[in-house]
Order: sequence, then structure tokens, then C-alpha cells
Amino acid sequence: MRQTMDFLLHDWLGVASLLSRPRFADHSEETFASVLDTCERIAREKFAPFNRLCDTQEPHFDGQRVHLPQATHDALAAYVQSGMLAAMQDYDVGGMQLPCVIEMAANAFFSKASVALGGYAMLTSGNASLLMAHGTPLQREVFAHAQFAGRWFGTMCLSEPQAGSSLSDVTTRAEPDGADFEFDALGPRYRLRGNKMWISAGEHEITQNIVHLVLAKIPGADGKLVAGTRGISLFIVPKHLVDEKAQLTGERNDVALAGLNHKLGYRGTTNTLLNFGEGRFPVRGAAGAIGYRVGKPGEGLRAMFHMMNEARIGVGLGAVMLGYAGYEESLQYARQRPQGRPITGAGKDAAQPQVPLIQHADIKRMLLAQKAYVEGGLALSLYCARLVDEQHTGDAAAAAEASTLLDVLTPIAKSWPSEWCLEANSLAIQVLGGYGYTRDFGVEQYWRDNRLNMIHEGTHGIQALDLLGRKVVMQQGAGLKLLAARISATIEKANLATGLAEHGAQLASAMRQLGAATQGAWATGVPEEALANATPYLQAFGHVVLAWLWLDVGLAAQRSGGDLAPGNPSSLRYFYAYELPKIDAWLAVVARREALPREMQDAWF
Ligand SMILES: Cc1cc2nc3c(=O)[nH]c(=O)nc-3n(C[C@H](O)[C@H](O)[C@H](O)COP(=O)(O)OP(=O)(O)OC[C@H]3O[C@@H](n4cnc5c(N)ncnc54)[C@H](O)[C@@H]3O)c2cc1C
Repeated sequence: MRQTMDFLLHDWLGVASLLSRPRFADHSEETFASVLDTCERIAREKFAPFNRLCDTQEPHFDGQRVHLPQATHDALAAYVQSGMLAAMQDYDVGGMQLPCVIEMAANAFFSKASVALGGYAMLTSGNASLLMAHGTPLQREVFAHAQFAGRWFGTMCLSEPQAGSSLSDVTTRAEPDGADFEFDALGPRYRLRGNKMWISAGEHEITQNIVHLVLAKIPGADGKLVAGTRGISLFIVPKHLVDEKAQLTGERNDVALAGLNHKLGYRGTTNTLLNFGEGRFPVRGAAGAIGYRVGKPGEGLRAMFHMMNEARIGVGLGAVMLGYAGYEESLQYARQRPQGRPITGAGKDAAQPQVPLIQHADIKRMLLAQKAYVEGGLALSLYCARLVDEQHTGDAAAAAEASTLLDVLTPIAKSWPSEWCLEANSLAIQVLGGYGYTRDFGVEQYWRDNRLNMIHEGTHGIQALDLLGRKVVMQQGAGLKLLAARISATIEKANLATGLAEHGAQLASAMRQLGAATQGAWATGVPEEALANATPYLQAFGHVVLAWLWLDVGLAAQRSGGDLAPGNPSSLRYFYAYELPKIDAWLAVVARREALPREMQDAWF
């Protein structure tokens, strides 16, 4: 994996070119490599050995406290020590000013070693980064800095029992706390009341405090909540109240754990139902959780989604790494397990010794599929992370172009690995046969852990609606046009390269098909007709993007001469032979606005 990652970072994405930018001037290829080495080592020593343990000893709530294995505390202490919580931040807040692409590559080692242990850290740095972008100077100093230092961990509280995909329906209320509510140094002070469901890392004792970032609605003058997302504001709700010096005041805030959710996978990260302001822990003489508003009223969702691109690319990369873990385990197994004999012209000879599984074509097909999914997914994630760097540190034109491309690529960066690297995990189980279905091997856990990724951070279906309903049509299709231009540039290069012209022609045809299907979907301009097949569109779009990236990676492999990423040509060949043709079926229903899904009646099921 490391060899492929290094190839993608250096030979393909040319990360060294970032070193000429002022923000990264103090870095070098050596510092980049040393961050990756350190994270790879900590992940190997402190995370991987305990991945199974944190699955089997899932968090336990005794009515008062949540218990976690000691290994969770130790792994996260090592992560905090590494400084990775603030890896992308400025030096003056204790950060490393690393490019996004290097930070994500480094964090990938933790996802591969134990995605559930890493969950606490990812949420904390996401929470603190959001506060750096939207908080007041004091909110940053108190709440963000303490999280970057690992003193406190953070959460993101969006979902409610009745409001998952549809966040406009959140009903958590935030009411001004006293006449002087606007004059609290930590931010306008409110009392929050409501229930938040599915909150990852919502309760634990790894750190002395937990900083919840909570979406809630401020009632209007009539006491009613404003309908829609415009009514949503964002609040910092610490589990324990703190002062302006970031010291605990000794007051417990009115945030209570109603219970833990017991999940299919990702078990090492606590997942909670939190009751805000029910009066279980009255604070300053009253019920209601004290929260400090971040930004203006009504702008909560916008702030929460400020770093949506990074968060979604991160989810996709996590899915890739779980796919990788399963691929490597099943590959190793297939090399060792003797079973069956080769099919030869003369038939099978039972007197001959058995051969390892890896000698069977069908096993190789499944390994090839996994390899193409996980290496392709890694390329996609790193490409998008590199675009984030362009957006933040490129010149104005490059930054604008990166933003437009990220608009259309982010739903793919999140969804494609979530679907296909999960499929890789399923194939890994298949390679191991019955053994893969037991807890004696890791592959079943990887599949269970990965199954979450199609559900959170915007479900698969919601990503599909976002892509076809918004992203490809916004700004008169600017994102799609830009993507098409980049794909065409790769095809032109492929036409001149050895042995790649045929793939280039196949990709050009796929691109035309995708364009025609996009037009077909919107031919009547009726959203209901266009969007009924948004998910097959998302699948086809993702496969076209991956085919493009594979071709581009193939060109880089040719350019870099002897230093080829191992087996790249075989993954490239696999993708064009077995995967890209699948788009025909997906796009056919999109282009003709197949009516079955929307005409289907409840009573017909
Ligand atoms: C393990 C885990 C961890 C999580 N961590 C967090 C967290 O830390 N913070 C947080 O705030 N949330 C968290 N979530 C919540 C997660 O984001 C939601 O589960 C997700 O947004 C989906 O909401 P829901 O579960 O209510 O499903 P629903 O929204 O009810 O969706 C159910 C199904 O219906 C589909 N659907 C819904 N609406 C539409 C529509 N309009 N058109 C077509 N199809 C639709 C969906 O695609 C999905 O397939 C977590 C969830 C899990 C399982």
C-alpha cells in the first residue's frame, strides 16, 4: 500500500510542486515522508493490534459511565502525541501547516489499522477546524485550541431521531439564556433542549471534556421554530462548562447520555443518543444545556458544511482503507491456502498436490477486482485532497477551477469508495470462503465497519440526488464541462502513449454516453422524472471518473519509467474490461427516464 501511495503522491500528483508555495515553504519531501512514516508506525503499533479488541469489547454503559478498553485510551494518547490533530493548522496554533493531501494520506494509515479507534480523532480535528473558520477569537482559543492539543475531544451533533437525511426538520430548540445572553465572552449564550441521535464519540472519558457542536433552531417571536434549513443555528455545548482560560469551572452541563447504540460495525467508537436540557443535570439553577452560538443565527448548516468537501473525501478514504485491509488479508490467505487443482487440457489429476487458491482464475478475478477498487479509490481520494490544496493555496484561477471540480467530484469521492470498497470487502470474505465468514479472520469486521460509509455523511441516495439534481446542472453545467475537459486532455495524451489509445477511445465513448444520459435525464425538465434514477447515474458517473483516473495513473506509470506502481497496468486493464462496460445498463435507465421506480405503487410490493 505504501508503495502505491508514494507513487500516487509523487509520480502522479507531483506533491513536491506544493513546496514552492509560501504556506509549505518550510516543508520538504523528507518532512512529508517522515510524517507518513510516523503515522504508519503509530498505526501499526498502537492501533492495528487492538482493532479486533475494540470490536469485541464494545463500549459499555453502566448507567453512570461508559467503559472503553484501555487500548482505546493508549491509541488516542499516541495519536495526540503525534500532533496530527492540528496537522493542517498554522504553526502559531501548534499546527504543522501540512497540505491536505499529505494530512489525508497520513491519516489513512489509522483508518486502515483501526477505523473505529481513529474516529474520535477525526471528529475532534473536524470540530476544531470548523471553529477556526467560524468561531470568535475566544471560541477558537478556548474550544479549538484545547481540541488541537488533545485536552478535549469533539463531536458533531446534527441528526435527531426524526431528522436524519432531512435536517430541515430538526427540533432541538435554543432559547436565549437570560437578558444578558448576548454578552457572554464565550459567545451569545442559549439554553438548548432536544435529542440528538447517532452522535459518534458523544460520551467517553478519554478526555476530561467533550465539545459538542450542535445544530438547533432559535424560535421566532411567536415561539415557533422557523421551517427549513434557514432556521438552523450552530452552538458549542461543552459537557463540562469552562471559563475564558479554557479551565473547567466544575459545573456539569445539562447533557445526558440516554443510551448507546449497538452497531453492526465501527464498534470501537461510542455512538450515542444524547438528551440536551432535559434537566438531568440542572446547571446554574435551571434545566437546559448551556450553549454558545457560533456565527450568525440561521447560518448553522452553512457553517457545519463549510468543510464538507474535506469531511466527505475523508469518509471515502476511510472506505478505501478498509477495502485495502481486506484486500491484503485475502491476498495473503490466497497465497497460503492449498485447495483444488488447476484445470488443464487433460482434466484434473487428483494424484497431483493441491495448488494455492491464488492459482485459480476465479480467485485472481476477485483479487483483481479488489485491487482495482482500492487502488482506484486511493487515487480518487488523493486527487480530490490535492484539489483541496489547490483551492486553499493555488492562484485565483486554479483555486476557482478546483472549487468547481470539487463540486462535482465530492459526491463521487464519498460514494464511490463507500460502495465499491465495500464490495472489495465482500470479495475478500469470498476469497477466504467459510473462514472469511468467521471471526477467526479480520475480513468480516472490515466489511461490517465499512458498511457504515454508505449511510453517514449523506446517504448514498442523498449523494446521488445532490449530484444529478444540483452539482451537474449548477452554473450551466460548469463542473461537468470542466471535468469533461480534463478527461479529454487525458484521452489526448493516451492517444499518443504506447498501448493506451484503445482505452482512451473507450473512455471518450463513455464520456459521450454520460453527457447524453445527463441531457436525457433532464430532457423534460421535471425533477421527479430526472431524479428517479439518480443512484444508477451516481454509479455510472463514478465509474467514468475512475476510468479516467486509471488512464491518467497509467500515463504517469509510463512516464516514470522503471519505477512503476506494482501491477498498475493489470488494474487498469481490469477496470476497462470488467467495470467500465457496466455503465451501459446504468445509463440506459437514466437516459430514458425509466419510470418504474416512481410509478411503483406501495400496494404492488
Ligand atoms: C454509526 C453511525 C454514526 C453516525 N454518526 C453521526 C454523528 O456523529 N453525528 C450526526 O449528526 N449523525 C451521525 N449519524 C447519522 C447519519 O448521518 C444518519 O444516519 C444519516 O444521515 C441518515 O439518516 P437516517 O438514519 O435518519 O435515515 P433516513 O434519513 O431515514 O434515510 C433512510 C433511507 O431513506 C433514504 N432517503 C431519505 N430521504 C430521502 C429522499 N428525500 N429521497 C430519497 N431517499 C431518501 C436514505 O437515502 C436512506 O436510504 C451516524 C449514523 C450512524 C449509523
